[in-house]
Amino acid sequence: MIAEEMVIACCTDLAGKVRGKAFPASQFEKRTKRGIGWTPTNVQITCFDAIAESPFGSLGDLVLIPDRTARVRVELGENVPVEHFALGDIRHTDGRPWEFCTRSILKGALDRLNRVAGLQLVGAFEHEFQFRNATATLGGAYTVDGFRAERGMAETLVAAMRAAGLEPDTFMKEFGAGQYEVTMGPSRGIAIADQSTIIRELIRSVAHAFDKEVTFTPIRNPSGVGNGAHIHLSFLKDDKPATWDPTGKHELSRAAGQFIAGILKYLDAVVAITAPSVVSYLRLTPHRWSAAFNNLGFRDREASVRICPVSELSDVSKAAQFNFEFRAGDATASPHLQLGAIVHAGVQGIEEELATPEATTEDLSLLSPSALTERGYVRLPKTLAEAIDRLLANQTVTGWFPGGFVDTYAKHKKGEMSFLEGKSQQEVCSLYEQVY
Ligand code: GLU
Ligand code: MG
Repeated sequence: MIAEEMVIACCTDLAGKVRGKAFPASQFEKRTKRGIGWTPTNVQITCFDAIAESPFGSLGDLVLIPDRTARVRVELGENVPVEHFALGDIRHTDGRPWEFCTRSILKGALDRLNRVAGLQLVGAFEHEFQFRNATATLGGAYTVDGFRAERGMAETLVAAMRAAGLEPDTFMKEFGAGQYEVTMGPSRGIAIADQSTIIRELIRSVAHAFDKEVTFTPIRNPSGVGNGAHIHLSFLKDDKPATWDPTGKHELSRAAGQFIAGILKYLDAVVAITAPSVVSYLRLTPHRWSAAFNNLGFRDREASVRICPVSELSDVSKAAQFNFEFRAGDATASPHLQLGAIVHAGVQGIEEELATPEATTEDLSLLSPSALTERGYVRLPKTLAEAIDRLLANQTVTGWFPGGFVDTYAKHKKGEMSFLEGKSQQEVCSLYEQVY
C-alpha cells in the first residue's frame, strides 16, 4: 500500500492527556512557523470525553506550534508504524502564548525561578505503570523472573528512549500486580516535562507493539498498590550544582531548603494540580509509600518530598547527585502543569525566605490532629473536591497562573467529577484505568 509519513503536533492539557493533530512530515518546517489550528474549548474536554463548562463556547481560534527540540521519531521495527510526534506550544493567532497552554505555564514558572534565584531546574520523572489484564503472578516483586517476563518490551523501550534522545536508566518489576517502573536520566528546564510526556507515549507505543496495554492510573483498586509519578529535582547556578551544601540543614543549600519549604507550605492547594483525578486521593493515603501529609522525609518514602540518597561509590560528585523527590503526583496530570505548579510553589518559598523544614522519620498518621498542627503539618485533601476547594481558596496559588486559569481548571475537574456521579468506587477505578 502507498503511504506518506505523518507527524503529530501535540501538547499536554488540563486532563493530562496528550492531544494534537497530524500533518505530512514533509511540512514540518513550515508548521514550526505557522502551526496548526487549535480550538480553545478543547481544553475543557475531560479524560472521559465529556466537555466541562467552558468560558470559550464555540468561539475562538488558536495555533499549536510544534517545537523541533521536542520532536520524536522512532522506528520501532518492521510492520510497526513509525512513532513520530512533536510537543509544542499553543498560541493566540498573533503569536502570544495562550493562557491555558501548559507548556507556556511551565516556561513562565521556570523563568520566575531564574529571575528570582538565578537557578536552572534539573530533573527527571520516574514512572510506575501496570499492564492491564495481566494475570497477577504471586511472588514477582523486584524479581529477575518479573523482569524476564517483560525483557522484550524493556529492551525495545530502552532502544526507543535512546532514539528519542532520552537517557535510559533502569527498568524493574515493581511491587504490584503487573507493575513496572521506568527511570531515566535528568534533563533541564522544559525538557524535564517534555521527556516525561515522551516516555509515557513511548511506553504505550512499545506496549502496543507487543500487543499489550498499560495503565498509568494512580490506583486500580483501593486495596492495591498505587502508581506514582515521582519527580526528582535539583538546581544549577551558573552551570554548577546548587542543591547540596554540606553545612546546610539536611545538607540542603539555602535556596533548595526554601524551595522545598514553599512546596510543602502550598501543597494542600497545589495537590489539586499534581494529583488531579478522583482516584489520586485513594493513592494519597497513609501506608502505601505515596504521600498523605505535607512533610519532608529523610530516608522516608511516606513523605511528599524526600531527600534522595547519594552513593559514595559513584563516579558522579555528591554535589551533582544530590536531589530531592516530589512524591505527591501521578500521571493523570499534565507533566507541564504539574511541574509548573511545583516550581511556582518552590519559588514562592524562596521569595518568602522560608526556613528549611524539619524532616520526619516517624509515622505521621499516628499523631493526633492537634499534634500535627503544632508541628506545622496538614493532612493532604482526602478527595479531589476538597483539593479543588483548597486550590480555589488560596489566593497566592491562584495568582501564579494567568487570570481565569484556576477557575476554568476547577470547572474542568467538576465536569470530570460529575461524569462519575452515582458510580461505585470499583467502576470509577476501572474508568480511570481505561483512560490513563
Ligand atoms: N507505588 C508507590 C507510589 O504510589 C511508590 C513506591 C516506591 O517508593 O517506589 O508512589
Ligand atoms: Mg517505585
